[in-house]
Amino acid sequence: GDTIGILGGGQLGRMLAQSAAKMGLKTHIYCPDPGSPAFDVSNTFTVAPYEDADALDRFAAAVDVVTYEFENVPGPTASRLHAKVPVRPGVRALEISQDRLFEKQYLTKASVDIAGFAEINSQEDLDQALQKFNGKGVLKTRRFGYDGKGQLMIRSSADGNGAYAALGSVPAVLEQLIAFECEVSVIVARSLDGTCVSYDIARNHHENHILKTSTVPAGVTAETLNTARRMAEQIVTGLEYVGVMGVEMFLLQEDGEERLLVNEIAPRVHNSGHWTQDACLTSQFDQHIRAVAGWPLGSAQRHSDAVMENLIGFEADEWHAALSDPNACLHLYGKSETREGRKMGHVNHIKAKALTEGET
Ligand code: ATP
Ligand code: MG
Ligand code: MG
Repeated sequence: GDTIGILGGGQLGRMLAQSAAKMGLKTHIYCPDPGSPAFDVSNTFTVAPYEDADALDRFAAAVDVVTYEFENVPGPTASRLHAKVPVRPGVRALEISQDRLFEKQYLTKASVDIAGFAEINSQEDLDQALQKFNGKGVLKTRRFGYDGKGQLMIRSSADGNGAYAALGSVPAVLEQLIAFECEVSVIVARSLDGTCVSYDIARNHHENHILKTSTVPAGVTAETLNTARRMAEQIVTGLEYVGVMGVEMFLLQEDGEERLLVNEIAPRVHNSGHWTQDACLTSQFDQHIRAVAGWPLGSAQRHSDAVMENLIGFEADEWHAALSDPNACLHLYGKSETREGRKMGHVNHIKAKALTEGET
């Protein structure tokens, strides 16, 4: 089919629509927010709540396949659409990534390494689990956490006291506190016929719990790179996933050896993969569109080194500064209103590896 329906109208939806247009495909964005940045670049859009059954049915009838740019698509919305039109990456991927407990159980089944964890439904559960993890851990709500919201770091028994109530007495998980060297991520894609490709891993730096930069190459060993790719490919294969996934990992140094633990997965294109737009033959957005359209994947080969820098909040100076560097590729999302902590755009600082003909 040639019309791709996208649930969600943020910058990820916008960049997916731009890739689709480039490849001659049409997009129809569905989002409740009338000011969505993706509307500007789509062919059609619907402004309606995700629970609006009639609007969803009209949307399903107007598109050939549905994808999404955020993981908190309500379960009934995904199921209603799925009954009428293919939903890719898939309903199961949504169910898993909406709930940290289900996600960890799935990752265990997929045989990838993760931090130790325990299901927490009471302060008593928490006290017991903390004993198992030497009194330290990260307590996270099972659902709706992002940018470090919905989690509490526990480093002492004082931190642990009353922590379950402080989190809001909601279903939670406790994770072992990991003393990582740095955070990295892998962008992986799987096509309808089961072919997987994965990009080079990026080293991620956060400020105020929000991604600030992603750097490639990440400066890890070839073995670590292979392990990261293998784990990411196991995760998408076990889910019969179709599309792009972001896999966040912790890099540890143990006895002079690098080791990886998977932190969390995002069933969509990912902020830490924006560098692929200007440093790879196929960007993560092109790749996702190709996958959900049922097309063959493109090469994930990287032709340049890159540092992706997020433009967060009101930083107009920063955008202008970026333009003075001819090797900086500026991406702005066309958001009319700047707010503190809001992602307004990003810059890819590119260092091309290829030399111009005649140079030595
Ligand atoms: P995102 O916005 O990436 O979806 P999130 O709110 O879902 O974030 P996580 O990625 O699980 O939360 O955790 C946020 C950050 O907290 C991590 O990037 C990491 O720096 C730190 N963190 C999370 N879990 C652990 C852990 N088990 N041990 C040590 N640090 C952790
Ligand atoms: Mg998360
Ligand atoms: Mg995270």
